[in-house]
Amino acid sequence: MKIAIIGAGAMGSRFGYMLQHSGNDVFLVDTWKEHVDTINKNGLLVEENSKLNSIKIPAFLPEEVVEIPELIILFTKSMGLKPMLKSINKIIGKNTQVLCLLNGLGHSETISEFVDIKNIFMGVTLWTSELIGPGHVKLTGSGNLEIQNLDPTMGVTAKKICQTLNDANLNAIYSKNVVLSIWKKACINGALNSTCTILDCNIEEFGQLKNSKKIITKIIQEFSQIASKYNIPLNIDEIVKNVEQTYDPNEAGEHFPSMHQDLIQNHRLTEIDYINGYISKKGKEFDIPTPYNNLLTILVHSKEELLIK
Ligand code: NAD
Repeated sequence: MKIAIIGAGAMGSRFGYMLQHSGNDVFLVDTWKEHVDTINKNGLLVEENSKLNSIKIPAFLPEEVVEIPELIILFTKSMGLKPMLKSINKIIGKNTQVLCLLNGLGHSETISEFVDIKNIFMGVTLWTSELIGPGHVKLTGSGNLEIQNLDPTMGVTAKKICQTLNDANLNAIYSKNVVLSIWKKACINGALNSTCTILDCNIEEFGQLKNSKKIITKIIQEFSQIASKYNIPLNIDEIVKNVEQTYDPNEAGEHFPSMHQDLIQNHRLTEIDYINGYISKKGKEFDIPTPYNNLLTILVHSKEELLIK
């Protein structure tokens, strides 16, 4: 299958590598020129279980792509999604299927500005990955993903995409309610990413704070109030428990959430507007108070101002 990975950072490179390895005809598209040039010159360097492997995959800047793929997998950061879709619009064919695996909320609305709803597939993934440098990706742990069609008539196509992903050992399942899963993951990110970033602590340290339960419960309650406006039922107690499970050092406890890695460690912009910021924005639209998410959004943007010159 001809597959374009749009946004070939840590996750896009992992998926691109695994899909190419299983026999698909993959190309990568990314805005980072040094990364694109390095991949074209030396191949994509893939580090897995301390072994290094180089794989040839063509890589392009968005303005260079010409070929219309059968499947597009979107893996930009949330704030890069719309500009990227604008610049690769020419390779979204009438029958190109578009699968979105970004974290965060509101992406299907953005994609539907560029893609017919029948070709949009949404997903959520627990795979992880790290970009070590230009052209060099480290595959961490194992994972899975669930996907679903937005248009109810496109279930068979979604199952075929699952098959292609499974042939690449990506452990995909066809979801009966991917929107609920996306919201649940957004709640976990919403509870941990911005808090650990502002407090400059890892997940275990956050969990040990006297007020951690109160903070995450308030954040998740606000997510739930907004979700209910879209008829998405979130079980607050269950999600609080899911967040608390991650405090265990055998789970994610020792890790710093990706927002901490982006902002505190690497001075890069964050996905805050698509996590807590999305709840804050929708709270204003629906006239629902969301003070915890409002403050976290403002604090993370302020930290961006301080750290990114
Ligand atoms: P990423 O930051 O690795 O890549 C995103 C973009 O940033 C790419 O275009 C990349 O080329 C560019 N970039 C990365 N490092 C750069 C640098 N040093 N200089 C210049 N440009 C650079 O993003 P990601 O981690 O692959 O995340 C993509 C989406 O997947 C996000 O929505 C994220 O939340 C989600 N996600 C990530 C993980 C993970 O483990 N990384 C897991 C699940 C979901």
